[in-house]
Amino acid sequence: MTGGVYAANVNTTPQLNVPEIGGGVGFIDQQKEKMIGEKVFREVQHQMPVLQNPWLEDQLANVFFHILSQTQIGQPIGLVIINDPQINAFAVPGGLFAINTGMITSARNMDEVAGVMAHEVAHVSQRHYSRSQEAFKGQGLLTLAGLLVGALVASQADGDVGTAVMMGTQAALMDKQLNYSRNQEREADRIGMQYMYSAGYNPQSMADFFEVMDRATSKVSFLPDFWLTHPLSTERMSEARLRANQFPKVKSSLHDEDFEILKWYSRVVSNQATEQQLQILANRKNFAGQLALAAFYLKQGDYVLAQQVLDQAKSHQQLNNLLVLMQTDIYLGQNKVDAAYKAIQSAARIMPENRALAFKLAEVLIRQKDAAQASQVVQRFSNKNPRDIQAWRLMQQAANIDQQSPFRTVNVLRYRAEVEYWSGLEENAIKSLLHAQRLVKDNEVLAGKLKTRINEMQKERQLKI
Ligand SMILES: [Zn+2]
Repeated sequence: MTGGVYAANVNTTPQLNVPEIGGGVGFIDQQKEKMIGEKVFREVQHQMPVLQNPWLEDQLANVFFHILSQTQIGQPIGLVIINDPQINAFAVPGGLFAINTGMITSARNMDEVAGVMAHEVAHVSQRHYSRSQEAFKGQGLLTLAGLLVGALVASQADGDVGTAVMMGTQAALMDKQLNYSRNQEREADRIGMQYMYSAGYNPQSMADFFEVMDRATSKVSFLPDFWLTHPLSTERMSEARLRANQFPKVKSSLHDEDFEILKWYSRVVSNQATEQQLQILANRKNFAGQLALAAFYLKQGDYVLAQQVLDQAKSHQQLNNLLVLMQTDIYLGQNKVDAAYKAIQSAARIMPENRALAFKLAEVLIRQKDAAQASQVVQRFSNKNPRDIQAWRLMQQAANIDQQSPFRTVNVLRYRAEVEYWSGLEENAIKSLLHAQRLVKDNEVLAGKLKTRINEMQKERQLKI
């Protein structure tokens, strides 16, 4: 492939030295990458089984941002969780990262998950897509985004369907252009390991996880970036082990119980755990097992059983965010809104920056018809990340119960437009904004704001810059 451009960096750079990037990368390129990344983000939301679960997202985001802080990458587009049992993760130009639930449920500790993320982050920090952009010459950005999405969606289909899709001409194109080269893979392993180490994770875990993946070879993936598209060679595995051995020993500072909670909970939300499995764990007074079993019953809408199991978990530990969230959900499910408020409010107020707690509090406030407080709680998140679909959805719900506001309908439409837009329903989003615009034609300021946003959406949708 087009590895020659950066081949000099591959074997000659000493350890703990990340090759210089950014040379020759102009503002326009960055803008283009961001637009491609955002376009793919919207299509991924639209076409792939994205899991929207603030608690799970927070757990992974903590690790992710820790690794990202070791790099020059600015604000990423986001980290999305795909509900898919295949072991996989991917990265897209502009800084869009995705991780499959199968990745979390197959890993044995957080360091192994960190290793996968670090590898993906390294592809983006080293601009592996951009560096092979020779391959993309003559193709519009929209085509490129389309190819990326096509490859991702094809990876979702299993068995014959997937193979059939991949046999098409588009697939042949993707195969040539979208796979990283072997050298890029090696560089991502090497640099990813450095990121892991400097973020305090154990580099050995990357080599460990290669072995886990090697044992899971029956799960073949066609995703554009992935360890599985370039089959793990024995050479690559032993290289990773040798490289890991060059780092000083790292003792993982993470509590194993935290990872066990994350892993079992992920199995429940992605339907990879049976009631019987969870019961066995819970009966052993295993806290992670108790939380997961409660989540299992909660998912089925069996609030009585969920409460029973959660009470057992409480005798073990009370101050756990996931436990607080589930208790609130049980009360909401039983229509005990005041009890739900009591369950969530102190934890949410102590940790106002905690997204999962804040969103749950907002949900309760909306049920209490407190529009002002609910939107106040959520707004900081939509300000911080304009692609936060769940934040926009809560803003929309809060606006909807705000009976006194003269702009009630306009606000509902505005927030709904953001939900639609970032969920990949671009035309609907523009329609919602045009509708809102007609309602405020006498209000110049508001009408101007709406016009600006409509123009932005129209421009981005066509990917013309
Ligand atoms: Zn890779």
